[in-house]
Amino acid sequence: MTKSADTHCPYCALQCAMTLKSPAELTPASEPGSVPVPAQAAALVAVTAPVLEVSGRDFPTNRGGLCRKGWTSATLLNHPGRVTEPLLKGEDGIHRPIGWDQALAMVTTAVKETRARYGKDAVGVFGGGGLTNEKAYMLGKFARLALGTSRIDYNGRFCMSSAAAAGMRAFGVDRGLPFPLEDLNNASTIMMLGSNVAETMPPFVQHLKGVRDAGGLIIVDPRRSATANFTADGGGIHLQPLPGTDLTLLLGLSHVVIHEGLADAAFVAERTSGYDAVVRSVNAFWPERVQSITGVPAELIRETARRLADGARKGGSYILTGRGVEQHVDGTDTATAAINLSLLLGLPGSLRSGYGTLTGQGNGQGGREHGQKADQLPGYRKITDPAARAHMAAVWGVPEETIPGPGLPAVQLLKSLGQPDGVRCLLVHASNIAVASPDANAVIAGLRSLDFLVVCDFFMSETAAEADLILPVLQWAEEEGTLTNLEGRVLRRRRALQPPAGARSELWIMARLAEALEAPSTYSEDPETVFEELRLASAGGLADYSGIDYAMLDRGEAAYWPYPAGSTGTPRLFLDAFAHADGKAVMTPVAPRRRRTPAPNTDPAAKTMTLITGRLLEHYQSGAQTRRVSELLASQPEAKVQIHPAAAVSMGIAEGSFVSVANERGQVVCRAELSTAIRPETVFLPFHFPELESANRLTEAATDPISGMPEFKFNKVWVRLAADQAANQPQNSVLQTTEAS
Ligand code: SF4
Repeated sequence: MTKSADTHCPYCALQCAMTLKSPAELTPASEPGSVPVPAQAAALVAVTAPVLEVSGRDFPTNRGGLCRKGWTSATLLNHPGRVTEPLLKGEDGIHRPIGWDQALAMVTTAVKETRARYGKDAVGVFGGGGLTNEKAYMLGKFARLALGTSRIDYNGRFCMSSAAAAGMRAFGVDRGLPFPLEDLNNASTIMMLGSNVAETMPPFVQHLKGVRDAGGLIIVDPRRSATANFTADGGGIHLQPLPGTDLTLLLGLSHVVIHEGLADAAFVAERTSGYDAVVRSVNAFWPERVQSITGVPAELIRETARRLADGARKGGSYILTGRGVEQHVDGTDTATAAINLSLLLGLPGSLRSGYGTLTGQGNGQGGREHGQKADQLPGYRKITDPAARAHMAAVWGVPEETIPGPGLPAVQLLKSLGQPDGVRCLLVHASNIAVASPDANAVIAGLRSLDFLVVCDFFMSETAAEADLILPVLQWAEEEGTLTNLEGRVLRRRRALQPPAGARSELWIMARLAEALEAPSTYSEDPETVFEELRLASAGGLADYSGIDYAMLDRGEAAYWPYPAGSTGTPRLFLDAFAHADGKAVMTPVAPRRRRTPAPNTDPAAKTMTLITGRLLEHYQSGAQTRRVSELLASQPEAKVQIHPAAAVSMGIAEGSFVSVANERGQVVCRAELSTAIRPETVFLPFHFPELESANRLTEAATDPISGMPEFKFNKVWVRLAADQAANQPQNSVLQTTEAS
């Protein structure tokens, strides 16, 4: 049974508006092979006609536009590889169907036995930034009250935690964009650092037209990305710093602003604190010195600072950061440096200027507000705050001491798997950690060392393939709920389709398990009932949703948090005051941090280079979904390592050659893609692919000391022509095997 529904895309945080309709006439299923797909992947992709038609819907963020991922999203709803029954792994490693009663009883027993043997913290939960607000909220409650564990964290730790920590430090609150996206339309100058929106969220670029026409787009990226190409032909400036030097570049820009008298002195005096310390901290970063560290010409640094200041006086200037500058061991300080620069220029809290960070995952914003993070309670409350704990204890109807203290951030949680005093039984929701985590080989080893692994998913992801038990859950078009987009606007997700008979909502699963575990408090399986509880839970917190309800969202009202009951919400934060007690923004001096010395290159035939990782237009995150869409896979069927022709020729690498990219953590073997868009000392790998093409085999699980963000964007690798190219033909073997099972 299908019906039309106005909803939003299941993928990224732009949350493009779309309408789902039942096609008047379903076209016959396309034949396998009608779209050219590599043989090893053909078994994975959707070959049936979608059960729903997708059309873009006019909305301020996407203006009716969708990218290829959005257009093709409905093809996964009736994908033949969908998991539709609980699957238990046998002694032979094969997953076989079991009933729900048996599955839930097994989880209950595993939790009880683990707790009895090792203590409550031996049970862990790993969530995801794709969960609806209702599911993210309930997962935090379920973990802490029903499982009794502090060990819950989520994959948003890999995406947004550094920008979030910097925002909290500077502004007292973290909302990715503290202004509606449309505010960018009339800007004179926009500087984007480490974000390739032309590929990750293409409808976004509509909001850059004005600034490109004005010649004011400034892109900071070591690669000449698709977004950086917008600066050509008078569109703006592309700064191409060496990977890992963004913080130094930002200090250099602040140096120019201060020493050329470009700062907004009145704003700094009235609305900020910490100016003097920041002046001292940037004194050593004059443009010529910054040039010697970053490779960005000193004159370009000066011109960039002047353009930002000039833009602030004209149509407005914005500074936007993305994962490219945040996914580092000094990511919080780098985002802080970007905020300091924006505060010097008087951008935040203005109607025409600002600072923001571009959230990546679909509910990356809402998912980090309501209790999935190891250190937080709903409403963006700190779990160590006695008042926050008392509030939540009252909402949940439990004694305050029932709520555990802070747990472990994601990387530490994953490192603890199977270890003494670590997690022995893990529940995974909406996350493919076997592909998406840093040092993926170590994570897979950790998963295999667990006593019991439960994965809730709708596909046999690489993580699900490791599970003892897989619980099939709903896809986006089969459920009701809310998500919060990159602007902090709360949106409705609506059901258009009945789920497969054997699949269940995660709310239902948590409710049944809580009952079996005789947990305190209540666990509704109805999304709107859970949202009503979330409203109470968030009331008075930083992310206050208490004035938002389903009815107003269904009427199309724009709901930006904080939205206390009785208010009209907050499209633009900071216009009157920042969220610190004195109303001022805090500028914090920061400095580049020395990185760990990488292991020496043990392969004399290989050249040591710097690896950066990122996304492709056609794929989303670990690729667990988009690699199953025939059209997307046909377009980008495999990982390719992007390498500069000059570097390639010195190693005998040609276009399409198989290349080995390795370091002390692992090895990737894939084809070379020669491109002058990348710096000669650097290689780029997309992180959407598994097994021998998995970029995260190479990334380091070192973390930012403040945010817990791992170092995804700066890793030393040893690159050479693969020894035996034919023998190293990449195979998605895990996918093949498990999909068939
Ligand atoms: S830009 Fe993001 S939200 Fe929009 S259609 Fe593409 S993946 Fe979906």
